Amino acid sequence: MSSDYTEMWRDLGLDIDAHNALLNALGEGYQQVFLSQKNRPAGMQYFDFVMSEVHGLRIKELIDAKAEGRIIVGSFCVFVPEELILAVDGISVGLCTGADFGMDLAEKYLPRNTCSLIKSAFGFKLSKVCPYMESSDIIVGENTCDGKKKAYEEFGKLEKKLYVMDLPQTKSDSGKALLRAEYKKFIQALEEKSGRKITVESLKKAISIVNNKRKAIHRLAQLRAADPIPISGLDALLINQVYFYDNPLRFTESVNKICDELEERIARSEGVFPKGTPRLLVSGCPMAVPNWKLPFIIEQSGATIVGEESCVGERGTRNETDLTGSSVDELLDNIVERYFQIDCAIFTPNPDRKNHVKEMHKKYNADGVIHYALQFCQPYDIESHGIEEVLESEGIPVLNLVTDYSQEDVGQLSTRIEAFIERING
Ligand code: SF4
Ligand code: SF4
Repeated sequence: MSSDYTEMWRDLGLDIDAHNALLNALGEGYQQVFLSQKNRPAGMQYFDFVMSEVHGLRIKELIDAKAEGRIIVGSFCVFVPEELILAVDGISVGLCTGADFGMDLAEKYLPRNTCSLIKSAFGFKLSKVCPYMESSDIIVGENTCDGKKKAYEEFGKLEKKLYVMDLPQTKSDSGKALLRAEYKKFIQALEEKSGRKITVESLKKAISIVNNKRKAIHRLAQLRAADPIPISGLDALLINQVYFYDNPLRFTESVNKICDELEERIARSEGVFPKGTPRLLVSGCPMAVPNWKLPFIIEQSGATIVGEESCVGERGTRNETDLTGSSVDELLDNIVERYFQIDCAIFTPNPDRKNHVKEMHKKYNADGVIHYALQFCQPYDIESHGIEEVLESEGIPVLNLVTDYSQEDVGQLSTRIEAFIERING
């Protein structure tokens, strides 16, 4: 980190010792997982810098923005529209929930058999180690799976800034109407908190900022179809994770810049792994920072990851919002249309997701799919069965894995992944 931010963290109410322990663990993990990779694109230096300053410079930027009267909105789910937040000149930040930290404290509020993602949100709050949570003016929880829905009742006792958004569970007309009504309420909450009104101009500007960000990340995704692959799955995942924290304009520019470099690599047939390396698509639960366990094992085992069918990946970033409309209501309709296409496993039935996994498998020239569910995540774990059935019936090899944030099952996961790669090679 470029400066000493201890005072800033103290002012935010962080527990300095616990926070230092988290940063040390993160730094070591980052060194081992990312910086030890060979032949990384030069453009990754920007994302390494962002990660090295993720609790430093970026938080300072947020605090400076607050001093200028802008609001910070933290969220846990890709159903929270960044467009609406930007339209009140707010800043949207993802709350990471990807670390095995403070789980013992979390279990005082939650049953042991709660998924790691939910427990991690409580762990960060109770351990006082997340400067994003503490600097947020609103924290949006969403009624998606039963685990989150009920956990927010408890989280509200710890976090007074919590705002809960209801979400539909079916892709029906009434489901869409519910989503629209909830986005309307959210606009009201944002306008009240920020003291700014959303206008046609501010919303159009916000939509194009987010569309450009999604276009850039889509460009990156398409370049991963090449063999040899010009960027590792780990680095591509990292970029998808940084998507949730960084200034959106700077992020878009940096992604486009690395894409220029990757195009040159492809033209020279230069890759991070040799041509012919087995290519896997990862599908399932979101992988928030610093949840790098599975991709690290996969790429250490002799395969590469060509795409993420995940909310930290293509499920969260595909589809742009239509910019045509001459009123805030018309633009809101476009936003609802875009978000209603997200095929999260909380929807029932959810056939779009099966089609999307198949489509991604083909588009990115994958040789097989690893389905990843967090332990105790019923929506994704149950849905994995139908996905496996459909893909295997079409000759696409699938490996279903269930894991959590601990390191206890690393050996077992490696063995299963190596056997799966052998099956593909065979
Ligand atoms: S998996 Fe579902 S609940 Fe989780 S972030 Fe994605 S859309 Fe939201
Ligand atoms: S991983 Fe599954 S159980 Fe956990 S919050 Fe997401 S949908 Fe809910």
